[in-house]
Amino acid sequence: MVNNEAHAEILRRATDAGAHLISFLWCDNGGIIRGKATHIDGLQSRLRTGIGTTTAMQAMSDMDQLQVVSGTGPAGEFRLVPDPSTFTHLPYAPKRALMLCDLIAADTRAPWQACPRDFLKRVLAQAQDIGLSFQASMEPEWYLAYQDGDDYRPIDQSLDNSSLGMTPAQEVIDEIIEALVAQGIGIEQYHTELGHGQQELSITHAPALRAADNHLIYRETVRNIAYKHGLIASFAPKPFPDQAGNGLHIHISAWDAAAQTNLFYDPAGDQSLSKAAWHFIAGVMAHLPALIALTCPSMNSYRRLSPGSWSTAYACYGPDNREAALRIPSPFWGAEMASTNLEFRPADSSSNPYIALGGVILAGIDGIRRQLAPRPEQRIDTDPTLLNPQDLAERGVHRLPRALPDAIRALENDPLLLPAMGDLLARSYLAIRRADWQHFSQRDAAYEIKHHFHKW
Ligand code: GLU
Ligand code: MG
Repeated sequence: MVNNEAHAEILRRATDAGAHLISFLWCDNGGIIRGKATHIDGLQSRLRTGIGTTTAMQAMSDMDQLQVVSGTGPAGEFRLVPDPSTFTHLPYAPKRALMLCDLIAADTRAPWQACPRDFLKRVLAQAQDIGLSFQASMEPEWYLAYQDGDDYRPIDQSLDNSSLGMTPAQEVIDEIIEALVAQGIGIEQYHTELGHGQQELSITHAPALRAADNHLIYRETVRNIAYKHGLIASFAPKPFPDQAGNGLHIHISAWDAAAQTNLFYDPAGDQSLSKAAWHFIAGVMAHLPALIALTCPSMNSYRRLSPGSWSTAYACYGPDNREAALRIPSPFWGAEMASTNLEFRPADSSSNPYIALGGVILAGIDGIRRQLAPRPEQRIDTDPTLLNPQDLAERGVHRLPRALPDAIRALENDPLLLPAMGDLLARSYLAIRRADWQHFSQRDAAYEIKHHFHKW
């Protein structure tokens, strides 16, 4: 439990900042950020008691249709108990602050079984038991668009990496950068992406739990600042069917307990990767189709995962290969140890970052524990879309699931992931995914896009 000093510090910061509403947020099973806010006058006690919320919220589909999942429903509450380390005063809304929460069972006062943030914490504890502390960065792509009647239009027609595209987005991006930095999130790089109006602003890696928290703070910041400029920021996997998809590439590295030495780095190893890194790759590859249900969980996700769009359609890994599910990025010159990492590419922002990151790390440490070796035939150093489909099949380089039910089936058959999530989180998560499929598979693409465009 958090000590009183940390709570007193939060109260002091919120008061000094002049915040009157402090949002207690969490990310639900559909990847949607939800929450409730307390007035500053109640903050002191709410920090301790949390805010009560119906258990039904973890069984609510992306269309707010309540699914029947025993252990959730109209009877029963969890408490949104904020983690003081996540307090951030919102530069774009000076009267507001936010905190990210753990879902705590109202009766036992222990983490509620359907808490996604607790799942990631449990995975990280397992990693700690074998001497690993993970760093991660979630690297989202997103579109800046405006509403035109019933349609959405990208803010420009710019080309990939084109400096021309930086002009229309300039004021928004500058404000976002200032706001992220003010909230303690470091900025790495910015460029305009392939799609018209598509942006990529990457942020600095952080301890894994913090990286997932940062992704939520990032989305809040981008959406709110875009809104102030009369724009919509879309993190949907494929908001425009004829344009590039929005990835959420996940960069991961494993460090020693003191976070001083990158254990994925070995200058003498193949690709300067350590044995542990290769085992991690093998673990991720072994659980790959099932992981997709955690990292690409929405109906719209599968519009993105197609060959030739660098969104990763194939189960393969390779050095600097952007069509591979796992890219081994070449490190920065002169900072080889610090920058060695693995990039998991078939992920998008419709995922819950705690579940997505927790799933990938769990698969990787399974590979480390079992000392798995990656299949050499699945290493692809070229563009897999140019290879003969039969050769690919012989090498075990299969297409990743093409639709949500295929991914769900793979998840159901995976011996590791669902049991590790725990019964209630697993059941409620699957119920939401099935509801998503049921709802959208009966409707057309225009409806699907309209209802995914600004969900995340
Ligand atoms: N937009 C691509 C995706 O959907 C990625 C492009 C890139 O950054 O390599 O993941
Ligand atoms: Mg990109």
